[in-house]
Amino acid sequence: MFEKVLIANRGEVALRIHRACREMGIKTVAVHSEADANAMHVRLADEAVCIGPARSTDSYLNKSAIISAAIITGADAIHPGFGFLSENADFAEMVEEHGITFIGPKPEQIRMMGDKLRAREAAINSGLPVIPGSPALATVEDAKKWALEIGYPVIIKAKAGGGGKGMKVAFNETEIETAYTMARAEAKASFTSDEVYMEKYLQKPRHIEIQVLADTYGNVVHLGERDCSIQRKNQKVIEETPSPALNQQQRAEIGEIARSAVEKIGYSSAGTLEFLFEDGKFYFLEMNTRLQVEHPITEAVTGIDIVREQIRIANGAKLGYTQDDITFSGCAIECRINAEDPSTFAPNPGKITEWHAPGGLGIRVDSEIYSGYKIPPFYDSMIAKLIVSGKTRNTALMRLHRALEEFVIDGIKTTIPLHQKIISRPDYIDGMYNIHWLEDLLEKK
Ligand code: ADP
Repeated sequence: MFEKVLIANRGEVALRIHRACREMGIKTVAVHSEADANAMHVRLADEAVCIGPARSTDSYLNKSAIISAAIITGADAIHPGFGFLSENADFAEMVEEHGITFIGPKPEQIRMMGDKLRAREAAINSGLPVIPGSPALATVEDAKKWALEIGYPVIIKAKAGGGGKGMKVAFNETEIETAYTMARAEAKASFTSDEVYMEKYLQKPRHIEIQVLADTYGNVVHLGERDCSIQRKNQKVIEETPSPALNQQQRAEIGEIARSAVEKIGYSSAGTLEFLFEDGKFYFLEMNTRLQVEHPITEAVTGIDIVREQIRIANGAKLGYTQDDITFSGCAIECRINAEDPSTFAPNPGKITEWHAPGGLGIRVDSEIYSGYKIPPFYDSMIAKLIVSGKTRNTALMRLHRALEEFVIDGIKTTIPLHQKIISRPDYIDGMYNIHWLEDLLEKK
């Protein structure tokens, strides 16, 4: 097993990885920016290296500084967490070139899945159902032609897109030019390529994703689904498993379709296949070749430590179990708690004057926050994940109400009141929501 792992990330995910490493007897190296010298991931790690100034481009995205830190500290492997360099194929390649193991899939697999058009092609070839769509669009005329072929409404998406950016919807021909131009401009500003393509825009789908684990010997299992339909600006806010929208047969079918596609693609490590689900049909969206923010709900119902499995797989271990060995028990829900004003969503970093995390049966809080900690203004505003589980969805929901009520985060504004509002709505309680439900609710107020 690895002796020392460098964690190329910050915040709660850095802690999450540190915890898995400690339980496996592996030493950890934290890297941090100048703004994060007092962060919890730095305090808990065995060693810490400052890799640059506050700005992510100078620190957490600074490939050579991170690799140098790994070499200096003698780390055998690097875990990239999520965000930052986690889906950067060049980084994964650089890591391997320096004789260090990248804890994740092969660079080529990251590259393929990071290109939405190539990913679509791989999906089609491996038997996954995809949304009707176009090839790369070279001109507005091209976009118009394809929109007629596919049928309005359509969504124009950046080929290299991620994080919900670079996507624009057109409901009719008068909107297509603006959608095309804006998607292209956004793609150019945010990604390595400004190429865009088009998909049929589904109007009331749910976002359902399947977690998979694959070792380097071709063994693949799926760990069930997560329903991530509670979204704002295409970003997930609350996730739950199992999805209230699926019956046992649909669940088993999509799980097996995803599992067998991953086997055909020859992927290894943890990964997630995202689908839209509408009128009883699944449509493949993309594959994330990394750990996901919402992985703990899957851990809660399967008992499998996904980070531990990622590390074992990267170290060349076999899964050691088959699909039949995976059992699912109960329900789990996760709330992403952000340091934001819950009514305007403006980031609200600052000093935490008091912190009390809820506890008790079925509660897990993953967070880097402690009393007196000053949240720096430079990074993502997610500061805590609250994960609750229970035998039934109702138990989990009651527990979630209780835990949100018990949570104390003073000194800054957080999105806790938003979560309380969401989980009190009859539609949410009945599991009747799609990807637009939250935005509709926010507009109504
Ligand atoms: P990203 O890589 O930026 O996260 P995705 O392709 O995963 O982009 O899409 C993110 C979200 O955007 C989805 O969860 C869904 O809410 C919405 N979306 C994407 N494609 C479509 C589509 N064809 N129809 C309707 N909504 C879509």
